[in-house]
Parts: sequence; C-alpha cells; structure tokens
Amino acid sequence: MPVPIRPGLAALPDYIIPSQPPGAVLLNSNERPLAPPPSVVAAITRAASESHRYPTWYSDELVSRLADRLGVPEPWIAVGCGSVSLCQQLIQAYCAPGDEVLCAWRSFEAYPVFAQVAGVAVRTIPLDAEHRHDLDAMPAALTPATRVVFVCNPNNPTGTAVRSDALLRFLDKIPSDVLVVLDEAYREFVTDPEVPDGVPLALERENVAVLRTFSKAYGLAGVRIGYCVAPPPIAAITTKVGVPFAVSRLAQAAGLAALEHADEVRARCEAVIRERDRLRAALLEAGHDIAESQANFLWLPLDEHSVQFGEHCANNGVMVRVFGNDGVRVTVGLPEENDAFLRAALAFARPLTQRNQ
Ligand SMILES: *Cc1c(COP(=O)(O)O)cnc(C)c1O
Repeated sequence: MPVPIRPGLAALPDYIIPSQPPGAVLLNSNERPLAPPPSVVAAITRAASESHRYPTWYSDELVSRLADRLGVPEPWIAVGCGSVSLCQQLIQAYCAPGDEVLCAWRSFEAYPVFAQVAGVAVRTIPLDAEHRHDLDAMPAALTPATRVVFVCNPNNPTGTAVRSDALLRFLDKIPSDVLVVLDEAYREFVTDPEVPDGVPLALERENVAVLRTFSKAYGLAGVRIGYCVAPPPIAAITTKVGVPFAVSRLAQAAGLAALEHADEVRARCEAVIRERDRLRAALLEAGHDIAESQANFLWLPLDEHSVQFGEHCANNGVMVRVFGNDGVRVTVGLPEENDAFLRAALAFARPLTQRNQ
C-alpha cells in the first residue's frame, strides 16, 4: 500500500510548466524580455564566489536599502524567495485548518493552491464584467473564518487594476483582524495615477501587507527574490515561518545591485508600456475585446476559443498562456516579438470576428 498523502492534497492541481520550445517567442510567463544589466550579473557572479558561506538570515543589506528607497523603517520589510513564497508564508502564518482565504477569480493561481496546501478553504469571488476585482462583493463574502484576503493589483491574468476610491472603501469594510494582502507584482507598469501605491496604505493600517517582486520589472525571475512591506508584527512572522536561508546569497546580491539601476528599469518599463498600448490598440482594431491593462501583459477573453488560439499561436512560434475556457494571457515582449504575436493573432481573429458579425 502506498504511503497515503495527507487528505485534501490529492486534488492539488499539477503546476503547468510553460513550454519553451527552442527558438520560440516566449510570451507566456510575464518575464522581462531582456536580461539584467551586466553589473547585476557581475554582482551575482561575485556572490557565487562566496557560495560556501550561508547568506544573511534577514537579507540585512537589501532590507536596509529597500527601507531607504521606500521610506519605511527596516522592521517593516520581509524578504522572500520570490514574492510567491511570501504569499505562502502569509497564509501559513495567519491561517489554521478550518479558516478561509478570500480572493478574486480569476486571479493569481498560487493563492488557492497555497491555501489548499495549508489545509485552508478558499472562497473566490468572480471578477466583474470589466475583469476587475469586485470590491463590493468581496467584503460581503467575508465569514468569521476569513483570515486573509488577497487583492492582486494589477490583477494577474487580466491586467486590470483597482483605483484608490474603490480600494479605500473596501479596506474600510474589512475588520482590522483580517489580513489584506495587496499583491503588487506589476506595480512598476502602472500608468493610471488613480491606481494607488500600496506602501502608504500598509503604513496607515494594521492589517495591510504589500508584496513586490524583482521577477518582473527588474528581470530577475530566475534568481527568486521578492519582498513584503507590512507592519512589523506581520513582517516578523512572515520571515519566521519561512524556510531558513531560502533567500540565497546570489538573490540578495542581485536585488541589491538591481536597485542601483532605477533608471534602466524605468526605461525598460516605459518601453513595455508603449508596446502594451500599441498591442492593445491593434487587437481592439481587429475586433478583440481587451480590457485596459496596467501590467506587462494583456488578457484576451476568448472563452471556448482559448485553447485553439493558444495552439494557433504556438504553431506560429509564439508561446502564450491559456487559462482553460476563460481566456489567454499574452506577455508584452520586444517590438519584434509582439509583431510575431500580432501576425498570429490577426490571422486567427478573422474567422472569429466573421462569426460574430
Ligand atoms: C509573478 C507574480 C508574483 C511573483 O512571483 P515571484 O517570481 O515569486 O516573485 C506574485 N504575484 C503575482 C500576481 C505574480 O504574477
């Protein structure tokens, strides 16, 4: 008889590993299309020469630099092995079996998985008709068991963002003993001035934690580094429940070096934003229904055509991410990569729009 897995885990979904055929255009993981600058690579290489020594436990130097940059005291920062680890640590720290996590759907796929791993129930609230978090319906769905609420802003995979007025109204309705996690993995791509920066909100409230990452705008998805900004008791327990030394020497060095390149990061993000807007305009023109995105990707709500569209793109050498029968997410890449995607998408759009007419 096989060793039984803990009840409730057998139904865990398999992680969908994005396929990366050689030579394909990779627009399926929201990565930055260009490698980090040489000085960041050099810092990682220097750190590699000290690989026989454990890293610092709290990523001390990185915490100190982030605190300066963000204008928050050091005890407000917890560093993690990617911000996805921090999502898991927050659930572990605040939820026990029988408790609940609340999130929107579709939203980041890691939230329900981590809840399941912790033996915690998930309640999901459908996005509204514009593919945004329904911030009126979410507070109404709280139960006495709800311990953590995720708000992914901008939302992955739809790219939509909630604005200050709606978010503040929402926060005012959440009891102060329920943790609200504002996942801002795509903050650097936000252009709408009404979409709030979560850090000042965390500073003002006892129950708000903000997650940021070096994986997207900074181009460090491969080294695994992200951080949480939250009131000191939240930041402290987040670090405490993490795997010791999960944030490697290489990751800490990479994050520190990347922070020295704010101008380069800004310029790269601006290029992505220009391409995002160009791509959206072209898709709208072709008859697609594309929500306004504040991230480095676009959402095509293709419903039952999603799988076919994804296969069509792959056959044309462009990898995109298909989400069942809901839609397809395409990451904004370099202009020539986006052109390759557009050629594929427009060749597919024609039969679709004809059917719709
Ligand atoms: C990419 C992403 C993250 C962070 O990923 P890490 O690589 O673990 O830092 C977090 N939240 C969302 C919504 C994301 O899309």
